[in-house]
Amino acid sequence: MASIYEYLRRKSQNEYVAISHELELASRTDALTGLVNRRAMQASLEIEQSLFFRHGHPFSVIMMDLDHFKQINDKYGHGKGDELLILIARLLLKEVRQQDLVCRWGGEEFLVLLPQTNQEQSLIVAEKLRKAIEVIDLDVIGITDPVTASFGVECISATQNISELIAASDRNLYEAKRRGRNQVFDPAGRICAKGTVE
Ligand code: GH3
Ligand code: MG
Ligand code: MG
Repeated sequence: MASIYEYLRRKSQNEYVAISHELELASRTDALTGLVNRRAMQASLEIEQSLFFRHGHPFSVIMMDLDHFKQINDKYGHGKGDELLILIARLLLKEVRQQDLVCRWGGEEFLVLLPQTNQEQSLIVAEKLRKAIEVIDLDVIGITDPVTASFGVECISATQNISELIAASDRNLYEAKRRGRNQVFDPAGRICAKGTVE
């Protein structure tokens, strides 16, 4: 009798541990793409910022937004739009280094955190991502239109807090959109329109 009781007690304890692990994972993950969500990204940004203040290691963020995504939804349906977001998430994970963190920041907006990376290096990464998206094969999900994305890059500076860093990357993204989309915008002008590295 006692061993049955002990068995049941252990079983429910294990189930409890498994469920709380699942819940903890879900609170950090975007359900559609499996990428980390905004909340988890915030936590990582704060860690990076404290490392920057303590050791002076710079880090950068790349804000990316799919171009004219609404048209994809309108033409192919929301379900196809979702499938596209999943493919894009996979591609981003494949293209970045293991220590980089890829987040679904919002609808069709992604944020990549690049530890120990300066502005110039991040521009090169953003350009690599831009090119990879431009040539992605969408036949597998039945989308025949070209899909592109625009990018804003920002490297942390001593005078910036996290929200200022994000706001600056957002402004750079907006500028990339304004200048015609499918490009990385660098305020220092190191990368030209449509991403030619100078
Ligand atoms: P722009 O080039 O200026 O970024 O144009 P856009 O059409 O991408 O931007 P806009 O902000 O007008 O539209 C974003 C669209 O993204 C509208 C919204 O329905 C769609 N969207 C947001 N989240 C999801 C999602 O989870 N799944 C799908 N399928 N669509 C989404
Ligand atoms: Mg968009
Ligand atoms: Mg958007």
